[in-house]
Amino acid sequence: MTKLRCATLLLAGLVAAMPLRAADNELNVYSARHYQTDQRFYDDFTKQTGTRINLIEGSDSALMERLSSEGASSPADVLILVDAARLWKAEEAGLFQPVKSAVLEERIPAHLRSIDDGEGSKWFGVSRRARIIVYNPDKVDGEKVRNYADLADPALKGLVCTRSGTHPYMLSLIGAMVEHMGAEKAEQWAAGVVSNFARSPRGGDTDQIKATATGECGVALANSYYLARLMRSSKDVDREIADKVRAVWPDQDGNGTHMNITGIGVLRHAPHREAAVRFIEYLTSEQAQRFLAEGNNEWPAVESVKIDNPALEKLGPFKPDPLAIGRIGKAQLEAARIVDRVGWR
Ligand code: FE
Repeated sequence: MTKLRCATLLLAGLVAAMPLRAADNELNVYSARHYQTDQRFYDDFTKQTGTRINLIEGSDSALMERLSSEGASSPADVLILVDAARLWKAEEAGLFQPVKSAVLEERIPAHLRSIDDGEGSKWFGVSRRARIIVYNPDKVDGEKVRNYADLADPALKGLVCTRSGTHPYMLSLIGAMVEHMGAEKAEQWAAGVVSNFARSPRGGDTDQIKATATGECGVALANSYYLARLMRSSKDVDREIADKVRAVWPDQDGNGTHMNITGIGVLRHAPHREAAVRFIEYLTSEQAQRFLAEGNNEWPAVESVKIDNPALEKLGPFKPDPLAIGRIGKAQLEAARIVDRVGWR
């Protein structure tokens, strides 16, 4: 649209009077995070800054393909992705440009930003989620499933359920294990989990929670917000499912529970770079942090921001793993090899 306008002005011979850069009163957002509630922070940003947001939502792979084919003429300013594995993939594909911002460095802890080689960070975590263990107390003794490592214990043969090991949520968890224990031990763990499967991996995290509630699975892995969503659902059937399972914060006596993020970065060819940085800075504000976290039952990335979420409160306090998300993302290459070798499809 900006290009069309520029072309028109050029034809009219007015170009000398106009700056040859895109108007900074708009921002083009590509987002793979599509929760209805996200509209609240887009609207609030426009209200506060007068910057109009043009939003394109799609799957992470569709958006990344689109960015690659648009190349240098892409109108997109920022890309929002969920999960370390996907953020790292976009970073490796050269889609982001580094950003140096005192506000972002102050508000977002270093381990939730991409690894800064001195030029600035390529992406910034704006909300956090945990990967938790859920179990059915009629099938499994809660004391036997306190840690991720327990899922490989032969005592759990025929009881463990997960989604496919090739999914970014699993690649990130396995990547974190590679970082903590080394590739060899992580592979032994993964092989142990696979040999404990109750069924071949299928469905998403909510499906694992449901199958745990029915007893088809004894214990499963899921992102925290999927359980919180069931706990807070207006449907009785969802709350009954949540009531039948128990949640565990894994690795509380060790590294802490594996964490992941929603992240955002300024794109390499962003036509509105200033507005893009301003938008990410806005996302670290008290109000936007609440919108981001509350919209999907997550935690803020900015530690001082407090949220009021009865489901997360009920799950209680826990120790999160402070491992750098950038390292987790990078370790996905090793994680993918492991998944392949142990047949975690
Ligand atoms: Fe999800």
